[in-house]
Amino acid sequence: SLELHDVHKWYGAHRVLDGIDLTIRPGEVTVIIGPSGSGKSTLLRVVNHLEKPEIGYVSVGGEPIGVRRGSGGRLKELSERAILAQRGRIGFVFQNFNLFPHLTVLDNVAAAPVATGRLTKPEARELARELLGRVGLGDKAGAYPRQLSGGQQQRVAIARALALRPGVILFDEPTSALDPELVGEVLAVIKDLAGSGTTLVIVTHEIGFAREVADRIVFLDGGRIVEQGPPSEVLDKPRHARTRDFLAKVL
Ligand code: ATP
Ligand code: MG
Repeated sequence: SLELHDVHKWYGAHRVLDGIDLTIRPGEVTVIIGPSGSGKSTLLRVVNHLEKPEIGYVSVGGEPIGVRRGSGGRLKELSERAILAQRGRIGFVFQNFNLFPHLTVLDNVAAAPVATGRLTKPEARELARELLGRVGLGDKAGAYPRQLSGGQQQRVAIARALALRPGVILFDEPTSALDPELVGEVLAVIKDLAGSGTTLVIVTHEIGFAREVADRIVFLDGGRIVEQGPPSEVLDKPRHARTRDFLAKVL
């Protein structure tokens, strides 16, 4: 499982994550909602150690991320190399796709398994073709990112994340940079991944999608988990005024 253990994060004097405890089962789909500035992106970035928490830590399958226990139980930062290896097991899909502009779609997807030495180039390309088919882009392998729509680029980014066969994939507002008519095709691909055994943690403002896909909704406000539970509870019968106020604004 993916666990956050009493995670605190400050930027200077500004407390952004204020004691996050969260346990996500393997294969579970968790959607994180909350107001702007509540710490959603920071929480995702802490999970793959792009940000280091001042207190607490994250573990995946019992293995601490970015740190190890030193003498006396104190947490020590791992080497950059070890952190990169761990990050390879946690996919990250960003709001703005972040594809390599000078590589074809096929090579965008094939690049990481080759760079990490997991697959040979022919093997990686074969896998990339399979994954592009899975996200509905089998015919775009030779195109460059600039030749694709935003929705297509984001589907390539998802295929790229899948290429390292991660146990966990993090999505930070994967559709918020898209024109409205392109949102659906990206959500359909994510929905397809739900239930495939991969643990998904998704930050989104698409509440209808969250209701359909989430096993659990986590409402974050002021760097704290205000409430969490299945959509039928958090979205339909929120127990906290802050959740109700937030939902009234986004629904
Ligand atoms: P949004 O919905 O707008 O994406 P969010 O919930 O993802 O918001 P975060 O990006 O996690 O919020 O930011 C939480 C708080 O931390 C904000 O007040 C933000 O200004 C601050 N913050 C984020 N990154 C940094 C940084 N690198 N340095 C200083 N402050 C930061
Ligand atoms: Mg954010």
